[in-house]
Amino acid sequence: METVGIIGGGLAGLSAAALLAQQGKRVQLYDTGLLGGRATSQVIKGFTFNYGAHAVYARDQSILRTIIKQLKLDITWLDFSSAKAKYEFAGHLTAAPANAIGLLKTEVIGGTDKLRFTWEVVKTVLHLEQGDPALSIGQWLVQEKVEADVSRLMLDLASSNFFTAEPENIPSDVYFNYYKKLFRTRKPVSYIAGGWQVLINELERVVTLHGGTIHRKTKITAIEESDTGYRLRDRKKTEWTVDRIVLAIPPREMRKLALPTPIQLFIEPYAQYEPVEVLVYDVGVHPYIKTPFSYVYDRTHQLFVTDLSHYDPSIAPKNGQVLQVVAYLVHDRVGHPDYLSEKVKHIHRLLDQHYAGWREQLVTERTMKRAIVQEIKWKMGQAALPCFLREEREEKVAFVGDWCEGEGQLSELSFSSAYSVAEAWQ
Ligand SMILES: Cc1cc2nc3c(=O)[nH]c(=O)nc-3n(C[C@H](O)[C@H](O)[C@H](O)COP(=O)(O)OP(=O)(O)OC[C@H]3O[C@@H](n4cnc5c(N)ncnc54)[C@H](O)[C@@H]3O)c2cc1C
Repeated sequence: METVGIIGGGLAGLSAAALLAQQGKRVQLYDTGLLGGRATSQVIKGFTFNYGAHAVYARDQSILRTIIKQLKLDITWLDFSSAKAKYEFAGHLTAAPANAIGLLKTEVIGGTDKLRFTWEVVKTVLHLEQGDPALSIGQWLVQEKVEADVSRLMLDLASSNFFTAEPENIPSDVYFNYYKKLFRTRKPVSYIAGGWQVLINELERVVTLHGGTIHRKTKITAIEESDTGYRLRDRKKTEWTVDRIVLAIPPREMRKLALPTPIQLFIEPYAQYEPVEVLVYDVGVHPYIKTPFSYVYDRTHQLFVTDLSHYDPSIAPKNGQVLQVVAYLVHDRVGHPDYLSEKVKHIHRLLDQHYAGWREQLVTERTMKRAIVQEIKWKMGQAALPCFLREEREEKVAFVGDWCEGEGQLSELSFSSAYSVAEAWQ
């Protein structure tokens, strides 16, 4: 039986571990912390705050759906209500163009522009529009003379799905490839009941069910080639010998390990790339502040608030509420302290405006000033790490994570890279 050592127990490492264990491989998974990586949850005063991933986009089209089915995971979906999604517009709230009805009702673009936008959607779905790898979506919109309001809306969508304050820099082929799938969905946004911890627990269950071993609080510090495969070593100099390895840790963490030279050279350019960062402000309030919406996007300051407990009451104490505000950040400005404090001011204004009384009803809050949403940002001049060094099937080293080539964005890249490695090694 072949032994696979998986370094990193975030969503990608855990998914790869569960899929490979189900195939009959002997799996050894190592994580420096507990498990879950950027998808862990923290409970403060009875309010559950997710560190990272909280929404799944287009679950009906996603690789995560395939993984859940294949591994028979016990997951309950909670679907976002597009009718409750709003955009701030000219001092009031208007429907978010999250689906056809929202587009019809929204004031963010006028009648003729709605037709033009719909035409862009149709072309994207039919794959008539594929973009150009040499052009960013911003350049493409200028080249195609797309109307200002339609361009703005296309970029607003990209901000939401790519979590970026600079959507215009996304390569246009990446943009259209992503929306070809997303525009077809009937489930644009969903959550997992109980939060991501439920998925983490389920993946862990499958790994152990198939005889896999999970080494928590085990930081791998060195990987060496051995006669038959690889030797792994941790901080305490404990050693393990495995036939193949899956590196499920970000390139900037990988380069801190003592690695065989071919791996080191392979990952080095990717370790230099810019990540996607956001500021996250979570608040737990009591009692619940009732509103006719569950999501508001402030287009001017590129931040949004979601009433997560509207979808999942289990994440707050009885009659409590979890509001999560996410502000997209411009990478070159995050180093300036004023920039981040300005963002917090905008966040407070958004909450004051739409959740009157939240300050008096605040039980607890948490701020994450620079949370890494995706390790490698999709922008011109940057690329995702391939999942294999060389030839897929015979290769003994694989890479998985949201920094890898795959389908979708954010955690979907973690799932799809894990899935493709497991398929190749079947
Ligand atoms: C604020 C925020 C909001 C987000 N929102 C969404 C969203 O709405 N939708 C969505 O799909 N995604 C979202 N994401 C992204 C999502 O959380 C990530 O894409 C996903 O969790 C990445 O998982 P991963 O396994 O690829 O990487 P990671 O979670 O980074 O996993 C890497 C793992 O490697 C371990 N590790 C590192 N070094 C070592 C070592 N030397 N030895 C052993 N272990 C090691 C770490 O402990 C970690 O567990 C969000 C992220 C953030 C931060």
